[in-house]
Amino acid sequence: MRILVTGGAGFIGSAVVRHLVGLGAEVLTVDKLTYAGNLESLRTIENAPNHRFLKADICDRGAIAEAFASFRPERVYHLAAESHVDRSITGAADFVNTNVFGTFTMLEAARAHYAGLSAEEKAAFRFLHVSTDEVYGSLGPDGLFTETTPYDPSSPYSASKAASDHLAVAWHRTYGLPVVISNCSNNYGPYHFPEKLIPLIILNALHGKPLPVYGDGSNIRDWLYVEDHAKAIHLIGSKGRFGEKYNVGGRNERKNIDVVRRVCAILDDAAPKAEKHESLIRFVTDRPGHDHRYAIDATKLESELGWRAEETFETGIDKTVRWYLANEWWWRPLRDKVYAGERLGVLNQA
Ligand code: NAD
Repeated sequence: MRILVTGGAGFIGSAVVRHLVGLGAEVLTVDKLTYAGNLESLRTIENAPNHRFLKADICDRGAIAEAFASFRPERVYHLAAESHVDRSITGAADFVNTNVFGTFTMLEAARAHYAGLSAEEKAAFRFLHVSTDEVYGSLGPDGLFTETTPYDPSSPYSASKAASDHLAVAWHRTYGLPVVISNCSNNYGPYHFPEKLIPLIILNALHGKPLPVYGDGSNIRDWLYVEDHAKAIHLIGSKGRFGEKYNVGGRNERKNIDVVRRVCAILDDAAPKAEKHESLIRFVTDRPGHDHRYAIDATKLESELGWRAEETFETGIDKTVRWYLANEWWWRPLRDKVYAGERLGVLNQA
């Protein structure tokens, strides 16, 4: 099975690529290597004969057409995106470009490739567009996002992802491209770029720096361990029905402040300091348009495709904190680069 993965040097994409390569699939990773892309996240598979890497921008029609022509993918898992909400507020252009125009380019390249396939190859071809639950906007205290919840995005990031989801559905309905879409809740786990909430908190705590929490910390996110998401992506990519959306989430709703406290408690145990790590928590001015609550109903994925998250939040967060403690080689160069501009503290939450 030849699978083309876009964004495979990023946080979730690298988990997907490691998973697929481990299963024996032939994988071509296509990634522009923006600040968020890191080949070190693929180090464990760098010598795998079934993995190739192509540095390319998904907005570059020529490069993407060439990738399709030479690799002849049987599947596409499209994850490349600008992904950080705070960055989208201060600079939306890259988000519109990569997330909207880049997805359009991928869909058009897939359509041209699909048109040239034999009937048998056409029957096997699949395009998975990977998206977020943020397209649904914010929930009140009750209720869950289902696949029929109307789109109501709040940030430039979620608006650009919503636009890309609509393009993916349209390319199925209009052109018959075999497209499936997944909408997942917040991920956490190893190889997460140090500007995002959980790695930021771990690394700031380790370095005795303040732990910034937006507003009063009551915003709720539904957390999923990244390797559970990677498995869900491959399952939906393999068996999801065309033109359908599948929500992905682990039923792990947590207030941001509780997530931060949990990380601090694990660090108190694994890397004790004279003072409790919690003493570093600082509440900072809230992000504009900050959605209050996200929560996923993953019943469709569970009942139709038999998916289950393997990690609870407690087991996953414990693994994650301990991974950062054991893998300074991975995060040290990134952290130094990000801290050089003292950007952390405002750029902090997914
Ligand atoms: P990430 O920012 O860690 O990685 C994105 C990757 O895409 C990077 O390797 C980057 O170099 C690459 N990229 C960016 N622009 C590109 C371009 N123009 N051409 C080629 N490559 C480009 O993001 P992530 O957290 O791994 O998210 C991956 C996907 O999953 C995104 O589509 C995101 O919207 C979606 N998603 C993320 C989460 C989450 O919690 N992180 C949750 C649900 C869905």
